[in-house]
Amino acid sequence: MRDTFNRKIDYLRISVTDRCNLRCRYCMPEEGVPSIGHGQVLTFEELFRVARVAVELGVRKIRLTGGEPLVRKGLIPFVERLCQLPQQPELTLTSNGLLLADQAAELKRVGLQRVNISLDTLKPELFEQITRRPGLDQVLKGIDAAEAAGLWPLKVNMVPIRGVNAGEIADFARLTFEHDWQVRFIEFMPVSGGLDYPPESRLPAAEISEVLHAIAPLAEIEPKGPVGPARLYRLEGAKGVVGVIPAVSDHFCGECNRLRLTSDGFLRPCLFCEDEIDLRTALRRGCSDEELALLLRGAVQIKPERHRIAEEQVIPTRRRKMQGIGG
Ligand code: SAM
Ligand code: SF4
Repeated sequence: MRDTFNRKIDYLRISVTDRCNLRCRYCMPEEGVPSIGHGQVLTFEELFRVARVAVELGVRKIRLTGGEPLVRKGLIPFVERLCQLPQQPELTLTSNGLLLADQAAELKRVGLQRVNISLDTLKPELFEQITRRPGLDQVLKGIDAAEAAGLWPLKVNMVPIRGVNAGEIADFARLTFEHDWQVRFIEFMPVSGGLDYPPESRLPAAEISEVLHAIAPLAEIEPKGPVGPARLYRLEGAKGVVGVIPAVSDHFCGECNRLRLTSDGFLRPCLFCEDEIDLRTALRRGCSDEELALLLRGAVQIKPERHRIAEEQVIPTRRRKMQGIGG
């Protein structure tokens, strides 16, 4: 599929649930979000149908996200079905890692290729402060389990926030001396108005890079395959690599290849734009695969050229927050 700016759209992110077992301050309010009613969430059968049609239209990479995808029961058979599609899309998952120790081996067995684990601090008290829940040990066990299961390359995503965990950038980067991981720093996106951290908490990519440069000589890595929006570097002597994702300061919309499917069945052509296409109504009135394909193509056609969150600084309370879209 090509959009009106001639971008090839071959990546679908599927949010399988809006529920989560953490309450990260930049993503969710303390009380959680009013959960989408059970009947409104797409069944795995419906999610699979959308994925199958998307793959028939040329999607080659699927990422499962949430909320926290591992809290939804029945995820593993769903992963298995996706992996059995004849086009064999690349299948990955983004998780907070809390339930990964129990599920990593099984996920790998049914065909999941890789996992991105979100972790913002290596300090137990700060973990509890940011996520409003204990659990750092459990996440670290999850990372070990993912590595042992062969979910590789393992990516650890950290969102540095000024005055909170920004002082840990170097500690995270130094993990790559010991581990062959990709440790990536993602600019905080002030998109969820009313949550705990104000726009000034954002640490621009340039500042993140300065910290990395101060640790050791840094060599930029020529990407071998698609790496997405990250700029990758290797610290001299490190086994793994570090990456910086300038989500706000240097938008990478020109290379954006994604569509997002929310757990209640809406296709979102851009993370930061409110336009959505309702697939659920079509699915539930028994639409044909051809109609579904038309809706998918329609979403591609309305994909905007770029987002403008850097200019707007913050988009106040939106219909969905990050956990409702999947990041
Ligand atoms: N629960 C899973 C997790 O945390 O990995 C998947 C969903 S979460 C919404 C996906 C990613 O979005 C996480 O890496 C999280 O850190 C990131 N995220 C959420 N809100 C964000 C924000 N305001 N700015 C930057 N990243 C954010
Ligand atoms: Fe949950 Fe992920 Fe949002 Fe944290 S970032 S509250 S783990 S969905």
